[in-house]
Amino acid sequence: MTHRFKFLLSWTLAIALLALPSGLAQSRGQEPGATPRSAQAWTLEEALAALALQPRDAYLQYVVLQLARRAGRFGEVAPRVQGLIPNDADVRAERREGVDLFSIFSGALAVQESLQLDTMRAVTPPAAGGSNRPAAPALRNEPPPTPPARRTQTKPPSRTQTARRGARRGGAATQTTTPLPIAAAVDPTLTRGQANTQPQYRPGESVAVSSLAGPSVKSHPWERMLAGRRPDISPLARDVPDDFYFVEFRTLTRLLDAFDAGDLWGTHLFNQAYREADTVGVGERLKRQLAIESDPRLRPFYDLVVEEVAVAGSDPFVREGSDVTLLFRVKQPEIFHARMDAFLSDAERAHADARRTTGQYLGVAYVQIENPERDVSVIAADPEPGLHLRSNSLAAFRRVVAAIKGKTEDGTVVRRLGDTAEFAYARTLMPRGDEREDGFIYLSDPFIRRLVGPELKLTERRRLVCYNHLRMIGHASLLFRTEHGRWPDSLEELARAGDAPGLFGEGALSCPDGGHYTLSADKTTGVCSRHGHALHLTPNVETPAAQVTGAEANEYRAFVEDYNRYWRFYFDPVAIRLKVSPEQYRVETIILPLIDNSVYTSLASALGGKPEALDSLPVPRRDIFSASFRLNKEKYLDDLGLVEKGAKPGEPAYVFGHPTDAAMNAKAADFVSRGLGNQVGFHLYDAHPTFDLNTASLLGWLFGSGVGHGARSLGGEEFYIALALTSLNSPVYLSFPVRDAKVVDDYLTQLDTVLSVAARNERRGRWLDFEYDFYKYQLPTGETARAFGLRLDPARLRFFWARVGSGLYVASKPFILEDLAGAAQGQPPSVAQGQPAGASQTQAANVDADATGHALVRVRAQNWNDVLPDYRLAWAENEREACLNNLAALSDAARALSARAAGQTGGQALSGEAFDRAVVELADRLHGTHHFCPEGGTYHVSPDGRTVSCSVHGTADAPRQPVAPSEHSPAGRTMRELSDLTATLTFMEDGLHAVLVVNRK
Ligand SMILES: [Zn+2]
Ligand SMILES: [Zn+2]
Repeated sequence: MTHRFKFLLSWTLAIALLALPSGLAQSRGQEPGATPRSAQAWTLEEALAALALQPRDAYLQYVVLQLARRAGRFGEVAPRVQGLIPNDADVRAERREGVDLFSIFSGALAVQESLQLDTMRAVTPPAAGGSNRPAAPALRNEPPPTPPARRTQTKPPSRTQTARRGARRGGAATQTTTPLPIAAAVDPTLTRGQANTQPQYRPGESVAVSSLAGPSVKSHPWERMLAGRRPDISPLARDVPDDFYFVEFRTLTRLLDAFDAGDLWGTHLFNQAYREADTVGVGERLKRQLAIESDPRLRPFYDLVVEEVAVAGSDPFVREGSDVTLLFRVKQPEIFHARMDAFLSDAERAHADARRTTGQYLGVAYVQIENPERDVSVIAADPEPGLHLRSNSLAAFRRVVAAIKGKTEDGTVVRRLGDTAEFAYARTLMPRGDEREDGFIYLSDPFIRRLVGPELKLTERRRLVCYNHLRMIGHASLLFRTEHGRWPDSLEELARAGDAPGLFGEGALSCPDGGHYTLSADKTTGVCSRHGHALHLTPNVETPAAQVTGAEANEYRAFVEDYNRYWRFYFDPVAIRLKVSPEQYRVETIILPLIDNSVYTSLASALGGKPEALDSLPVPRRDIFSASFRLNKEKYLDDLGLVEKGAKPGEPAYVFGHPTDAAMNAKAADFVSRGLGNQVGFHLYDAHPTFDLNTASLLGWLFGSGVGHGARSLGGEEFYIALALTSLNSPVYLSFPVRDAKVVDDYLTQLDTVLSVAARNERRGRWLDFEYDFYKYQLPTGETARAFGLRLDPARLRFFWARVGSGLYVASKPFILEDLAGAAQGQPPSVAQGQPAGASQTQAANVDADATGHALVRVRAQNWNDVLPDYRLAWAENEREACLNNLAALSDAARALSARAAGQTGGQALSGEAFDRAVVELADRLHGTHHFCPEGGTYHVSPDGRTVSCSVHGTADAPRQPVAPSEHSPAGRTMRELSDLTATLTFMEDGLHAVLVVNRK
């Protein structure tokens, strides 16, 4: 729904862009003295038209902005580009619903578009902007004369650009209310609320990061909670510092399986949910960096020699570039080393510029192989017998070795994760060796503290500003290639040719951490001497900010203030265990005790009490989706006040032949408190929907919330909106487990009288006349059913209810009650039970365990039948959108690759399939991802070299698609293999448990 809205919005904006006055650009597009441009060179009009079809293409946004600068139309074009960039709320949403196993920890690359626009504004003087608004005061931190709408203002170039941003965020320099993208980038929580902190530091002064304090949230009393218990702790947990994230797997094979499963489910479900068809390949990149091969043929070898494996790192920004350290407990060191050393030598040979060095840290000898752009970057060592380390960062390697040795070079004691009471406590909740654990992920209190602490926040903030510059250099380089038919030689050439908004490395275009910018070896992007290559940035652990500006410090203080106010619950450690098998993917998350947290308290009080089996009633075969809740009934009873309103002793129960209100209230109270159980379930029936609920998106979304943040599984408004829309659409029913059948029947009988009377009396409203209708009938199986209608001519709304066995059901169609009655009698084959009847005891227990809690959502994909054609159509539509999104990057690459300098003829140019392949390769290289058609279509470049089309999906301006995913579609296959999906939430004394189970056929 949101997506559709966004789509409409982008079209509206696209049309607005197309309607821009033209004419100026063509006459002013060519700068005097520039080298002659190739025939592929963009005109501003062409670029605007292309952007209208591909509004989220950051490169096209760059081209439009840069050409507008040349044409003196920046002030006119910039606000329109602004309109294409998602706002901070969207960025927040994208960030928290990350993609694969690795990027559940990922930061938002999406903010680059925002930063790019900001940078363009910063270096575009108002004069060149033509109709730009007057500039804000150039420097320092004085408030501008009037609080400007930040987004539409143009600032002159300034070295303190980013610093000033920080101060503004501080909230005192200017009272701007728009949150800053950079702030959102460093942490989206920054945009929450408006801090009132007075800036403590002058913007220009230098502040030691060590003097800044992080959020003041207390830690839990771990020792007391542990209460002397001594759970089993793996040796590898005692080899890492306590402020690193920690992932351990019983075997390397299981770890690789988890990656593959995450890939299978993650990639395809998320492709469906977010309509992106590119694989980031973080896992592949890391394996290359670390010189580790994972060929399936190697797995028996790994199983033979590796006893246990763990992954640890100091921050979660794996997608952008982060330190990752692998730890192996090895059974047969000689065999293991022979093979692992061979991988090192292979990696060294594969990179001509790789350098091998050796060194020592705390007496541990290591080998390092690294090339300048860190395609390969590995430190390998054996700190102890039977322990092998592989890290992509020397700084991280040293921290791990110091943890193993127990102290640093200067003798400072290092706390190891496995030695902490906190970790031990987590292991009492999720014991090591449990059959539900193939892998265990732990984010400790010190790790989360580090995540929001000053050092990492300020370091990552600077890195993001630099990252944007590096991407802009890449865009400038591709623009140059398009205009001149060759790659540029230097940043100076980019500036001279007018393809960059200035000289990168100077003024507002310089690295905030003093790094030196150059073109990458292949000329396609930028490299910073401090922050590294755009596609694999230097890990933050290697570039900690020690001194920051007063402005940055003020910004951080404002963040801390907000954090302390709103986001304390983020501070709790998170434990996740994974189970991966060909038939099942299971993720269980515990967010440890949430001290003093209002969100948790209110949720836990609405849904609460002893956890119950939430899917115990019989389920008809056509039930395709269920949501069940274990309500804290006692609390609701009080709120309803039914008990107090009951009849006083001695009062007559009947007046004029009707039960009195008091008598009815008494019955109602009895009915709710003694007759019914504690649950309510909502169920959706298989039927041809009249409008489309995008189940694939819903699944992807559930999956994302389940993996990343269990707490949101049921909290998001999307969920409720989806439910509400669904009930208009398809047959639905509510289920209430019955505790005392007699009480329920009594109440229903009593209600009959009231409803019968009501049905005979028309209601005349002021605006509307309506009538009630009521009657009883028998189900084929003998139970009494009731129907209640609301007639609002010409419309009728009907409900049907009946107690069938141990359930009370309210349905929107009569046949549902018949199915339920059949199901209760266990009549095969028209029905299936929530628990498979033939399942063995242990199997049933397992199914039950994962369906026991306070809230449950179950997608019964095995019952999809009538809905399938519509679902399949939606999947095919999602695939087409994903594929069309790829065409942006591919067309940009094609246009650049097919460009020839004026006068230059064909030369060694590729053609046909070879050229098509070269275009995909270039696009993959530029973006660090792999672009593919999810339907298995092939990409072809048009004869003029300007557009790329998909053999299945056409082009963005002439899209086409099949009505269902074909056999070639991995996503279609994945969805067909889906048997059911269950997400369960349980509020426990020890924290919030969220379990997500995906079963395959
Ligand atoms: Zn840098
Ligand atoms: Zn396609």
